[in-house]
Amino acid sequence: MILIKVNPFYPEEEKIKVAAKAIRSGNLVAFPTETVYGLGADAFNENAVRKIFEAKNRPADNPLIIHIASIEQFFEIVDTEQAKEIENVANKVWPGPITFVAKKKEGCKIARSATAGLSTVAVRMPAHPVALALIRQSGVPIAAPSANLATKPSATKAEHVFEEFKDKVDVLLDAGNTFYGLESTIIDITRNPPALLRPGPFTVEELERIFGSIEVSEGARGLKTADVPIAPGMKYRHYAPDKPLVLCDKDKIAKAIDDAKNKGLKPILLVSNETASHFNGVDAIALGSEQNMYEIAKNLFDALKRLDKTDADIGIAQTFPERGIGLAIMNRLRKAASVKD
Ligand code: AMP
Ligand code: MG
Repeated sequence: MILIKVNPFYPEEEKIKVAAKAIRSGNLVAFPTETVYGLGADAFNENAVRKIFEAKNRPADNPLIIHIASIEQFFEIVDTEQAKEIENVANKVWPGPITFVAKKKEGCKIARSATAGLSTVAVRMPAHPVALALIRQSGVPIAAPSANLATKPSATKAEHVFEEFKDKVDVLLDAGNTFYGLESTIIDITRNPPALLRPGPFTVEELERIFGSIEVSEGARGLKTADVPIAPGMKYRHYAPDKPLVLCDKDKIAKAIDDAKNKGLKPILLVSNETASHFNGVDAIALGSEQNMYEIAKNLFDALKRLDKTDADIGIAQTFPERGIGLAIMNRLRKAASVKD
C-alpha cells in the first residue's frame, strides 16, 4: 500500500495524480469523503469493481454507490428522463451527503457488479475536496462503498482503513478525520413519494422540505432489518463490534451496569459526555456533548471500533432522540447492538 498524506482542503495535485493513476489502472484507492472513507475503483471497470467486493468480503448482491464530480456524469449513468426530473434538486443538494437511487441509463458503462445487476443505480457527488479532486483527475465515476470490512463499523480516519486493509488496497489518501462520520443519506427517487433507504447527515426534515413528503420505513430506522429487505444491503448485519453491545435508554443504564456485573462481565459505556460524568467511576468512551449531536455522530464509529480494543466484556450504549442527525445515529446504534447471528 502507498500511504499518502494529503491536505483535506487544498489537495496537492501531484498526490491526487498518483491515486488517479491507480484508479485508471484498475486498482483500489481508499479516499476520504465528507461522510466516511470510501474504498474506490473505476466504476466502468468490471474487474476493478470486483476487487472491492473481494477486499471487503462483501456479498455480491449488495450494490455500491457511484461517486461523481459533475452533473454531466450524472446524465451519463442515470436514465435521461429521471435525471432531468431530479436535476434541479441534485444541483441544490450536491456536492453533499445524499445519495439518490435512480433508474439506471440503459447501455451505460457502469460495471454490472457495481449495481449488483439491478436496473437502478445509487449516485452521489461527495463534498470532500479530496474526493472531488480524485474523481475529476481519474476522469471516470468511482464506485465506492465504505472502506471497512463487511459487517464492521465504517472508517472515519485513515488509521481505521490501514488496520483493516493494509496490503489489500493500493493507495490510501490520508486527509485526517472525515467531517460527518456517518454514511450518506440514501433516498430512492424511483418511488413516489421518494423513500428513505438509509438515514444520514442529510436529515429527513431537510428532505421533507425538498420533496414535500417522503416515506420513512421501520427498516430505515434500523428496526426489523432482518424482515424488511427494502433495499439490497439492508438485510445484512452492519456496524457490528466483536464485543456485545447493549443499547438502552438513559434511565436503564444503571440496571444494565448491574446486570453485566452480576454476570461477571466488565462493562464500558458508549455515551454522551453528560451521561459519562453521571456514571463517574464506570469506564466510558465519551461520544461528545448532547448539545452537539454532530459531534456524537462524528465520534460514533471510532467509539465502536475502540470498544473491541478495551478490556471490557460488554458495551452499554445510550439512546438518543431521533431528530435531525439523531435518526442516523440511532439507525447505526440499533444495527451495531442487534442480537448476533
Ligand atoms: P456503503 O457505501 O458501504 O454504505 O454501501 C452502499 C449502500 O448503498 C448499501 O447500503 C447499498 O444497499 C446501497 N445501494 C447501492 N446501490 C443501490 C441500489 N441500486 N438500490 C438500493 N440501494 C443501493
Ligand atoms: Mg458500508
